[in-house]
Amino acid sequence: MAYGKVALIGLGLIASSIIHAMRRAGMTAEIAGFARTPETRDAARRLGLGTVVDTAAEAVEGADLVILCVPVGAMEAVTAEIAPKLKPGVTVTDVGSVKGAVIAAVAPRLPAHARFIPGHPLAGTEHSGPAAGFAELFDNRWCLLTPLPDTNGEALADLVDFWRALGAKVDMMGAEHHDLVLAVTSHVPHLIAYTMVGVADDLSRVTASEVVNYSAAGFRDFTRIAASDPTMWRDVFLNNKEATLEILGRFTEELFALQRAIRLGDGAHLRDYFTRTRAIRRGIIDAGQDTSAVDFGRFASKPG
Ligand code: NAP
Repeated sequence: MAYGKVALIGLGLIASSIIHAMRRAGMTAEIAGFARTPETRDAARRLGLGTVVDTAAEAVEGADLVILCVPVGAMEAVTAEIAPKLKPGVTVTDVGSVKGAVIAAVAPRLPAHARFIPGHPLAGTEHSGPAAGFAELFDNRWCLLTPLPDTNGEALADLVDFWRALGAKVDMMGAEHHDLVLAVTSHVPHLIAYTMVGVADDLSRVTASEVVNYSAAGFRDFTRIAASDPTMWRDVFLNNKEATLEILGRFTEELFALQRAIRLGDGAHLRDYFTRTRAIRRGIIDAGQDTSAVDFGRFASKPG
């Protein structure tokens, strides 16, 4: 492994999963971690998540790889804090769900000697915190890296090897494209789930106990997604505004078209539409990104 010491800033779901996956891979690197609150730091200590220190600056001292694992909106402040303590030639990466805004927040605050390679593992669950992590989280999941024009080739190769050792597949793309792709595959779907659960909550003619007791699989899936961390998702929407609004605009147009088909009794339109969407589900299963196993939402499932 190229890194003698790895520092994780933020010790939640993603950081703790990285630590578990590093250990599973047999990596011997020294691991240092920092989280904002004493409660999370104590929990991380109890869980044995490396050497947990009380400041971010202390965590990165002597580190060869620094991974920013905080909500997107906190990236700028933590970068400003760690910048003076970074070792020359250090690789700094992040796991934030938005890339354009993170690059704008982090890159200008790093010293010239640091090698910044933005990243985003497409793996998660609706759970958060240091106890939520597990070693298999990244297995067979994509980790997208969005290198900058001046990214050092050797540092990039080392980071690709690191993510592969954690079980992930690695791909690269531009930050702007990443943010559009994720708006389609993750950000807008989350917004739709939040909305649908909010609608059910607002519908006074359907009681809360009916929503809970008679929830069909579709609604249950929405509630799982809508249980995701509020801070993380607030930051995603505030920082991927343009792409989210573009996809949301298209979504609204399609919704109106389906609404019209229902009103007009246009069954052919509905059937054709649902046939097309079913094929996308098959494609995801064929690509190994989900299984076709029947899941009524009653099994303890790890991948999100
Ligand atoms: P998480 O479980 O909620 O953990 C977040 C960590 O960041 C906690 O240790 C928290 O410390 C710390 N933190 C929060 N605000 C901070 C601040 N202002 N300064 C310093 N530390 C702060 O979150 P996560 O799910 O691991 O997500 C971390 C990052 O990964 C986010 O950028 C998210 O967009 C990205 N991501 C998430 C998923 C997912 O599905 N969850 C998937 C891919 C990428 P305290 O507990 O002490 O507050």
